[in-house]
Amino acid sequence: MNLVLLGPPGAGKGSLANLIRETYSIAHISTGDMLREEVGKNSDLGLEAKRFIESGKLVPDDIVIKLIHQKLLSLPRQGEGYMLDGFPRNQKQAQQLDEILEGINQSIDTACYLEATLPIILQRLTGRRVCRKCGALFHIQNRPSKREGICDQCGGVLSQRTDDKEETIKTRYEVYLKDTKPIIDYYQKQGKLRRCNADEESRELFKKIMPFFDEYKRTHNH
Ligand code: AMP
Repeated sequence: MNLVLLGPPGAGKGSLANLIRETYSIAHISTGDMLREEVGKNSDLGLEAKRFIESGKLVPDDIVIKLIHQKLLSLPRQGEGYMLDGFPRNQKQAQQLDEILEGINQSIDTACYLEATLPIILQRLTGRRVCRKCGALFHIQNRPSKREGICDQCGGVLSQRTDDKEETIKTRYEVYLKDTKPIIDYYQKQGKLRRCNADEESRELFKKIMPFFDEYKRTHNH
């Protein structure tokens, strides 16, 4: 199944994607993670993307579209499909995605729209901590690590994302409202939109959408 995970920053796209990947082996493709990896490597692309990420703005379309195009071409054709997390982020990216997929005889099955309200978003993002080594997600109140500042999974150091500061969160949310929210309509018109209440904790949300995945697997003979 090929999915798009839509929703504001802090809606829990990454946490939900982790749960879906663990249970259904659907690949998780996060353009944010891919870009941060490039920044970490100090590649030309990373250096170009860094200032946009740190200010909470969108990285230029041509960079992100190229990155995702390469990724989609590299995936095994016989896999269980993929979830796109953080892509598309605007109308142009949504259209280009459909064109890329058409060229490789694929399409998006469903766009899950994770609806979350602003107080919840702020609480989640300001308390979010990420393992620098393995990328595991924690939250200082909702999901604390066993040892403060240390990843439960690999022992790596936890840190706050540079764009999870309150000022930058505000910019990211504004960018979301202006550029990304309109594409909800794009998927609605295609009859592919599925709304989910993302104010709920990701495990609760996951439990509620599991029947949808189970039904898909059953009807597609996986
Ligand atoms: P995320 O991890 O999805 O919150 O993304 C972090 C940052 O990476 C965003 O605030 C953007 O600066 C950049 N980014 C991620 N995905 C995209 C995209 N599809 N288009 C443009 N910029 C992106």
